[in-house]
Amino acid sequence: MRALRLPFSSLRDAPWGASRVSPWAAPRDRAAPRGSLRDAAALRDAAFSCDVAVVGAGVIGAACAEALTRRGARVTVLDHAPIASGTTARGEGNLLVSDKPPGPELDLARASLARWPQLLAELRDELGPERAACEYEPKGGLVVATEEAGARALGPFAAAQRAAGVRAVGLAAGDVPAYEPLVTRAVRAAVFYPEDAQLQPVLAATALLAAVRARGGAVRTGVRALGVDCRADGSVCALRTSAGPLPCGAVVNACGPWAGAFAAAAGAPLPVLPRRGLILVTAPLPPGTVRHKVYDADYVGAVGSGDAALQTSTVVEATRAGTVLIGSSRQRVGFDETVPTAVLGALARKAARLFPALRDVPVMRAYGGFRPYTPDHLPVIGEDPRRRGLWHAAGHEGAGIGLAAATGELLAELYAGEKPHLDPEPFRVARPGLEAVAV
Ligand SMILES: Cc1cc2nc3c(=O)[nH]c(=O)nc-3n(C[C@H](O)[C@H](O)[C@H](O)COP(=O)(O)OP(=O)(O)OC[C@H]3O[C@@H](n4cnc5c(N)ncnc54)[C@H](O)[C@@H]3O)c2cc1C
Repeated sequence: MRALRLPFSSLRDAPWGASRVSPWAAPRDRAAPRGSLRDAAALRDAAFSCDVAVVGAGVIGAACAEALTRRGARVTVLDHAPIASGTTARGEGNLLVSDKPPGPELDLARASLARWPQLLAELRDELGPERAACEYEPKGGLVVATEEAGARALGPFAAAQRAAGVRAVGLAAGDVPAYEPLVTRAVRAAVFYPEDAQLQPVLAATALLAAVRARGGAVRTGVRALGVDCRADGSVCALRTSAGPLPCGAVVNACGPWAGAFAAAAGAPLPVLPRRGLILVTAPLPPGTVRHKVYDADYVGAVGSGDAALQTSTVVEATRAGTVLIGSSRQRVGFDETVPTAVLGALARKAARLFPALRDVPVMRAYGGFRPYTPDHLPVIGEDPRRRGLWHAAGHEGAGIGLAAATGELLAELYAGEKPHLDPEPFRVARPGLEAVAV
């Protein structure tokens, strides 16, 4: 599971060392005309600063930066690695309501699933279809139960979701082959979720950041955020980085599974922990082999559990390229990048039980990543009351791609003092689910 990371030096946007202009200057700032000394100072301040520094160029940081720049904020996004190369590059790209019980995460997911297609349409208008292409596909999700216990639990779970506004279509076993012809005939019950969708996470983050740049924002890779500088009253006045200080009015911690480390460095610890997950990728298969996102009913239990021990459940879906992604595992082992073959074997065996046709297909590769886990399974979205000007958008665990669109919107609404489109309370930093946890 070694990350494919080129030396940072080869990925920098500009040869900063040789430049007399601040590395933080956006290209349009560098082209500013010369004027009086006072003008020059003002120009330099404008070039050297921004309203908001977003740390983390994953899908969450990208969504926050997009929503902030849409509101006119001057934003600099920075990442010590290439854009979207963290957990965003290591997921499956599902946008799901089907795996979430009623509650704040489902509310955020519903808002996000509604927002994603609008957002992508807006990006297409702004950037053109090629730069905004993200392989978005509202294909629907199929949850199947092959065991009696799972079949019994499916109905009430879907009924509760329906009461919360989710579209969930109960299917008899005999209806299932019409949805998935190659799924096992051992299915006892199933529920189809037409709202579930899929997109390519790296393309989505890249498109969001392209919009940030198009609006005059800056995106800098190869820069590590080290902490924050504060005024006498404790509020943030600059981001400390490996390229020097970046004066700013606010910092957004969108560091994914590393958000806990950055929060601690900024003087406001947060319990965001890595939860490892592995995926198998098959060779490209004929179209229609797997039509929807299909998963076993026990997946919902694994998602909701906080258990540190290994859990595997069957999740199968095809990509636009024809490969089939087989997941998924969950295990809290810190940032351990080993890929245990026993876990891959368990994933393969379970997938072949669900789709017997997969038994003999070649596996092309396996990869893994670290979900940003919080103990109460909710992301943290909002300003930190311990450190004014420090904001968090982190802890989305295994749902950050799906939740990104509404997360960016909510953070930008709160930053701009707008009425939020959904209740921000469950996601606030100072909440009981986070307070009791040692970091
Ligand atoms: C196996 C697996 C399957 C998944 N499947 C799905 C799925 O189907 N659907 C879904 O919605 N979600 C899924 N997820 C979860 C999803 O990938 C994450 O929730 C999401 O990518 C988190 O995005 P992020 O932007 O918060 O984090 P990241 O993508 O990790 O971005 C954080 C960025 O911050 C940078 N960074 C960290 N610290 C610093 C620093 N000090 N200075 C500068 N830069 C820094 C990192 O380099 C990184 O690029 C899956 C995850 C895994 C592991």
